[in-house]
Amino acid sequence: MSNASPRWHNLFPDLDFDPDALRERYRQERDKRLRDDGENQYLEAAENFAHYADEDPYTAQTPREAIKRDVNVVVVGGGFSGLMAAARLKERGVEDVLLIEAGGDFGGTWYWNRYPGAQCDIESYCYLPLLEETGYMPKEKYSFAPEIFEHTRRVGEYFGLYELALFQTRVKDAAWQEDRKRWRLTTDRGDVLDARFLIQATGPANRPKLPQIPGIDRFKGHSFHTARWDYEYTGGDHQGNLHKLADKRVGIIGTGATAIQCIPFLGRHAKDLYVFQRTPSSVDLRGNSQTDPEWYAGLKPGWQRDRRENFAAVLAGQNFTVDLVADGWTDIARRIGLSLMNRRSDAGNLDMEEISLRSEVADFQKMNEIRARVDAEVSKAEAAEALKPWYRQFCKRPTFNDDFLATFNRDNVHLIDVSASKGVDGITEKGVLANGEEIELDCLIFATGFEITTSAHRRVDFDTRGRNGQSLYDHWGEGFRTLHGLSSHGFPNWFTIGINQNGLSPNMTAMFDDQAVHVSYIIDEVQRRGATTIEVDAEAEKAWVEEIVRLAGGGNAEFLEACTPGYYNREGQVGKGVSMQNSPYAPGINAFNELLARWREAGTLEGMTLATEPNA
Ligand code: NDP
Repeated sequence: MSNASPRWHNLFPDLDFDPDALRERYRQERDKRLRDDGENQYLEAAENFAHYADEDPYTAQTPREAIKRDVNVVVVGGGFSGLMAAARLKERGVEDVLLIEAGGDFGGTWYWNRYPGAQCDIESYCYLPLLEETGYMPKEKYSFAPEIFEHTRRVGEYFGLYELALFQTRVKDAAWQEDRKRWRLTTDRGDVLDARFLIQATGPANRPKLPQIPGIDRFKGHSFHTARWDYEYTGGDHQGNLHKLADKRVGIIGTGATAIQCIPFLGRHAKDLYVFQRTPSSVDLRGNSQTDPEWYAGLKPGWQRDRRENFAAVLAGQNFTVDLVADGWTDIARRIGLSLMNRRSDAGNLDMEEISLRSEVADFQKMNEIRARVDAEVSKAEAAEALKPWYRQFCKRPTFNDDFLATFNRDNVHLIDVSASKGVDGITEKGVLANGEEIELDCLIFATGFEITTSAHRRVDFDTRGRNGQSLYDHWGEGFRTLHGLSSHGFPNWFTIGINQNGLSPNMTAMFDDQAVHVSYIIDEVQRRGATTIEVDAEAEKAWVEEIVRLAGGGNAEFLEACTPGYYNREGQVGKGVSMQNSPYAPGINAFNELLARWREAGTLEGMTLATEPNA
């Protein structure tokens, strides 16, 4: 403790580590990885690389005739966000809803991500929506991908959405027709669909992304992205048994939340596995458990909403009496957010600097535990050192897995630390260049994530053109412009369900559901009031954007700036360009939902204008 600054020393006389030294270590590790090209280091999975994203390895394409139809509502996207939108509309009695989905079934993320070990790290009782409505009991506290995919199908069946869906269909263009007050959509199957209302629910992680590594197009071996797992090549299924890899040298680039889950399976089955790691994940205990049917049967009606709200309250550092979920996520939040709660209960007694130092110390302690876990699990000293994350807990998505770390004790598993060169150096016909060496491979797997914070247009296959043919993406050129993240001026009868300028939660399905409830309310109101169109007012949109920017300007920007690069801080570009404007609603999802509920209760559709055209 002798090196600690006096402020630390006075506040925490008993610390067994030096917080200044840790701060400095975190800064060095961030600087080592910062790249001038930021998000431009990634390559769009398009043109020569389109097969990494567009090919569907799971369902053969079924030929069908092109369709020409006029419908009430088109929902683009059949993942949880689109499903929830359609379900909530049906619940309200809004009829004639059509869903368009690129995959061969519902599921979205859970249709595409079938890699071995895929699992949701959010508790299933919170994550799987409509459990009370559908009467389904999740098998485990943390569901694996097949069960989640099945649940999307269950929701589809329960709400009769299969009859309303066009699968294996991608929208090519959506344009507002002012004369008819309808959206016209065209698709890659030759369909022409006219709709009174359009809801875009294409999901935040629907486009796999690739690193722009020199030579990436040269590799002659087999290659795929984790979101299009090639079981034809690897053998086996979600539970493993990747028997066809027994004589293969396999490389995997990336060690994020996806890689953490599939690497144990690759390690078990590949002849040799080379893991190219730029930044280690924080890997905490998983500790999954079977659902107790007695406990489940005893839950009182309304339990799921209460549980989701409780989870969100704990994560946001709001007051709560009991932590219902009590898992890794809430443990982190309770410990690191403790100072915030103290501030509320002990207002006036703590200054802002003290609050932030307390939170930082709790974070250091948590991350010390994560690093100690690496030492306890990994016997090879060099690998253990490289697997330790040196950044604050919420700089990257925390991960939870009980098999990942021990995988590096296997003789056939080789950890290649590429942090010094800010990533893999190159790809050749035969393999990967890293740290001055060429590692020959039969198969190269990209666990390099998704386009989550790149430009909105890049993440959606099609253009959306509103009044006067204006592109949505031009309207959003300087950053998102919406009311509540859900609709924009110049785009009548248009809505989106997503992650920008609204209440954000790692429990994505809950936030999508809350947005779906709100959007379905608005559409229902338009119909009930006998109107033809509804549109966000320019002033209301401007005011919401200003509110988002104002609220985002606090300590969060500073926190992200100090983080190791990743998509949470736009690869280290936070604070630059549009990132403040594209922030979520900083007070959190519960506060956002309360705001939306008050808006609905007022019944005035404030900030939106209704119009009635008798002949439209
Ligand atoms: P991520 O974006 O989190 O990870 C991408 C990985 O690729 C990182 O380790 C990154 O390193 C690495 N990488 C990128 N470029 C290079 C390069 N040039 N050289 C070496 N390494 C490189 O993607 P994931 O698919 O893992 O996760 C994406 C998101 O999907 C998660 O954050 C989460 O939201 C969601 N997810 C959720 C799960 C759940 O349980 N609910 C499970 C899995 C995913 P670096 O960190 O240095 O950039």
